[in-house]
Amino acid sequence: MAALLKSLLAASEKAARIAQLCRQEEALFSLLIEEKRGVDKNKKFLQDFKTLADVLIQEVIKHDVGKEFPELQDHIRGEESNKFENGLGETVVVQVCPTQEGTAALLQRVLDRKQTPAELLAAAVHQEVVLSDPSLEDVAVVIPPENMAVWIDPIDSTNQYIRGRGNIQPVGGIYPSGLRSALVLIGVYDRRSGEPVLGIINEPFFQEELPMHRWQSKYHWGISYGGTNLSSLSRPPLQPSPRVVLSSNEKETLQKTLAAVYGERLCFASGAGYKMLCVALGLADAYVLSEGSTFKWDSCGPHAILRALGGGMVDLSEALRAWRAGQRQQLPELTYHQAVEGSVGAERWANQGGLVAYIYPEHLEAVMATLAAVDDAV
Ligand SMILES: [Mg+2]
Repeated sequence: MAALLKSLLAASEKAARIAQLCRQEEALFSLLIEEKRGVDKNKKFLQDFKTLADVLIQEVIKHDVGKEFPELQDHIRGEESNKFENGLGETVVVQVCPTQEGTAALLQRVLDRKQTPAELLAAAVHQEVVLSDPSLEDVAVVIPPENMAVWIDPIDSTNQYIRGRGNIQPVGGIYPSGLRSALVLIGVYDRRSGEPVLGIINEPFFQEELPMHRWQSKYHWGISYGGTNLSSLSRPPLQPSPRVVLSSNEKETLQKTLAAVYGERLCFASGAGYKMLCVALGLADAYVLSEGSTFKWDSCGPHAILRALGGGMVDLSEALRAWRAGQRQQLPELTYHQAVEGSVGAERWANQGGLVAYIYPEHLEAVMATLAAVDDAV
């Protein structure tokens, strides 16, 4: 019963195609980059194009997966609302219409009557995605959709998506910046326990095919449910000298504390989802983030994959508190079903205490021991 997994993977592939399209098609790309040039004449509309791409992808996933699993329909969420205001001050509810022409007409209203971009996007929205992945036939886990909910991050790492280059060279396998860090993240969690159950990371910009300069995507998935762990990835081997990946604007005290232990095995990369992917791929052994700058939609999918590989993702501030109280195992993992009390807007769903992503508990323990030993490290 891999129906839910297949449906979500197909949706992630369609999402990846829309993300690629916005970078590849001049009519769309010009809208994306003009936003950052600060052209004031049309500023509001142009700033909103990235949001439109996000909203559209979110609605496509909701539509395609909700059609197959109606019991999930009202439990598929992301950062963006689908109520959209165009440059003319009209409010338009962005959704997938029954026909491609209908969707194109709706998008034209959001895009201030621009026909070509609306038609390009509508064609991608209504294109059928056929997955040919024989390995999915062996997946026999039954996940009851009526107990599940879904977090979506349509395109994680916005800055790199808009401005990132496609030809950045990796350092030790890790791309420090560029298009490779822009990812589609989908996470399924248990509505009752809040535990991540199924995760998908789709890399829309995995490989550029010449001479046409068309991007090829690549997806990864993991399931951790009812005692069964399955993944498209294999558990990477345990490294004797771990590498830790950080954001380049991570707090200096934390950087210094970790550098004292890990030395040059500290590495830096853009994108929260991408750093989590680096851990899942074994390119880094842990990702440490001291700030509450990620959200449930960023971490849910990668977290499920890490769990499927025997790892996880802890809430850093809670884990530190537990560690300092003498707890060494089963440190508090992030959960996905409860909003932060007293917060409003997107902040309600922030991972406020920071996080540590890992595969081997040994690495988590090493990081915790290092951070707990320094009072103001976090
Ligand atoms: Mg994000």
